[in-house]
Amino acid sequence: MIADSLTQALKQYFGYDSFRAGQREIIEAFLGGRDTLAIMPTGGGKSICFQLPALLKTGVTIVVSPLIALMQDQVTALKENGIGATFLNSTLSGRESNQRSQAILNGAVKLIYVAPERLFNEQFLEFLNIVKNQVGIAGFAIDEAHCVSEWGHDFRPEYRQLSRIRNSFADVPMIGLTATATERVREDISQQLALRDPYIHVASFDRANLYYEVIPKQGADQSYIHLYQQIKKTQGAGIVYCLSRKRVDEIAERLRIDGIEAIPYHAGLTPREREENQTRWIRDDVQVMVATIAFGMGINKPDVRFVIHYDLSKNIEGYYQESGRAGRDGEDSRCTLFLGYQDLETIKYLIAQKVDPHTNAPLEAEQRIAHQQLRQVVDYAEGITCRRAILLRYFGENFHDNCRNCDNCLTPKPMEDWTVEAQKFLSCVARTKERFGAAHLIDVLRGSRKEKVLQHHHDQLSTYGIGKDRSLDEWRQLSRSLVHQGYLTPTTDGYAILKLNDRSWEVMRGQRQVLLPIERDAEPVVADSRDR
Ligand code: ADP
Ligand code: ZN
Repeated sequence: MIADSLTQALKQYFGYDSFRAGQREIIEAFLGGRDTLAIMPTGGGKSICFQLPALLKTGVTIVVSPLIALMQDQVTALKENGIGATFLNSTLSGRESNQRSQAILNGAVKLIYVAPERLFNEQFLEFLNIVKNQVGIAGFAIDEAHCVSEWGHDFRPEYRQLSRIRNSFADVPMIGLTATATERVREDISQQLALRDPYIHVASFDRANLYYEVIPKQGADQSYIHLYQQIKKTQGAGIVYCLSRKRVDEIAERLRIDGIEAIPYHAGLTPREREENQTRWIRDDVQVMVATIAFGMGINKPDVRFVIHYDLSKNIEGYYQESGRAGRDGEDSRCTLFLGYQDLETIKYLIAQKVDPHTNAPLEAEQRIAHQQLRQVVDYAEGITCRRAILLRYFGENFHDNCRNCDNCLTPKPMEDWTVEAQKFLSCVARTKERFGAAHLIDVLRGSRKEKVLQHHHDQLSTYGIGKDRSLDEWRQLSRSLVHQGYLTPTTDGYAILKLNDRSWEVMRGQRQVLLPIERDAEPVVADSRDR
């Protein structure tokens, strides 16, 4: 029976007794020559899905992988299992490259790892043709396949050319693997890789051992202290993600001064420094890696106990992926996102900088995508329902309401009745003819004498100045909450202009109550954490 021989092969080559959910079906499909798309969370066991078929088929399997570091690790691990594997990339000398090519043609190799840019050099394509004729090509495996999609969080233009492979080697089956793909990205992968009637496996993205929480940022010093406390209360290794290199250096330094073993990682360090810091962290010489998102892909440290995003993420997929580096060993771990509106502005600013390098014209499509993605992160961060449910819904999964392992499930935010204020706000949207954004609406409500208010004669409106009893921050919070709760519809580019919808009118007619979450009290700040 095939089932048994597969399990035997699994045991023989990798030493495992049984398949994890999905692996067998994926392997059977790909072994049978069918194009396959495997979507499994990080740590789900994707590698075996192409490695085992590679061992069981005649010919070599070409593995496309975006990171050189990742290739080396995988190849080393395979060799330790006595499996013929090699990699070809730009770091090799001509001589080494030749030796490896020879070994491949001698049939000593089952898996060849290559960087995508390598694939499209004519010389290499010629080499592949020779390989095909002499030893045969069993399949193509495209790791981190989401890189092919602009809708993913890590688009790499060189992946776009992978369809060329499909055209040149039409009869060779292809498997795409990724830990992250929304419905849209999934379709994009299928299309871009030109998969034919693929077998698609989508594993559940739920990571039950991860605790999700969001902490509002309140001023630089307060936020830092909260960060410090977060780290202090968790034993074991962790990652702190920041948006910029500068921030990474600052935070790493400050944590070190405060007695936490932290080191930086970002693209501004030399390759050697990066390598060294990574190794020290993996070996637990230091506790905390403070890094930009350049850090982490392909790093297999199972016992990461916390991942803190000290600055806001740019998109949910990235957040899921990065936070998912916690708890691969299945032990309880913590994923913390700091929500700061300043960061939001910074990201919006960066999005506005996305321009065509030649003409300087804004890249509108890209900007629109980026704004939508940012909106989704804010929806997650400001959400008052189960965080896990919000995340999983993003990946197209329905999750029951209470996970008992996120801040919103364990300590629901207290709610306050803000119906009257909501009615004032929505009426103001109506009176200004649904043509303005939150900032202007709040100016009108609070009776501002700003030029823009007077110019539009909005000081003449019945809603002018009826909101003086609430602060600017309170109105801002309400307007964001109205959007999140679906009482207002923003135009698609960011949060710009607010439009009314059916639900808005229900509120104005008094048919709906509007509740506003009140922030939980932050933990008391321990004075001695700073004043040593
Ligand atoms: P991914 O690429 O999906 O992040 P990996 O392929 O690196 O995941 O696998 C994650 C871990 O799970 C690895 O340590 C791998 O050896 C292990 N693993 C994979 N499949 C099995 C299995 N069937 N039984 C036990 N362990 C497995
Ligand atoms: Zn929950």
